[in-house]
Amino acid sequence: MARERATAAQRRKVFARAKSRCEYCLTPDAFVPDPFVVEHILPTSAGGKTRMPNLALACSSCNGCKYNKVTGIDPFTEELAPLFNPRRQRWKDHFTWNESGLLIVGLTPVGRATVATLKMNKEKTVNLRRLLIPASLHPPAWFFTQGTGKH
Ligand SMILES: [Zn+2]
Repeated sequence: MARERATAAQRRKVFARAKSRCEYCLTPDAFVPDPFVVEHILPTSAGGKTRMPNLALACSSCNGCKYNKVTGIDPFTEELAPLFNPRRQRWKDHFTWNESGLLIVGLTPVGRATVATLKMNKEKTVNLRRLLIPASLHPPAWFFTQGTGKH
């Protein structure tokens, strides 16, 4: 039977690779009481392996909403689209922030379906962003650089 839980070493690597931010909504682990989760991008129930290329760091909110889903409805086209894959896709290609920096805006069918399915603009998450902006802790610095945001 496939091993479903990441090892302690894998967990450390996943946290480091993600710079301790949810790889979907980019919320920093340091300010959220609920533990972040090392999740399978392709769920083990669908054959996903417990290996670094299939693991991502997710906040409990994104992880709970994602569950075992790999697709979601793009509210713009009302068609099914794959969810964002933090290992294979660049965050900035699929998402951006609105002018205030409080809301994640999907730029593509993948981005829009992921924002909707993972409920990435929940009120409490937005409240946290509002507090992190003046502390320069949100959005993450790489968003403003030429960096890819891909690890
Ligand atoms: Zn998240």
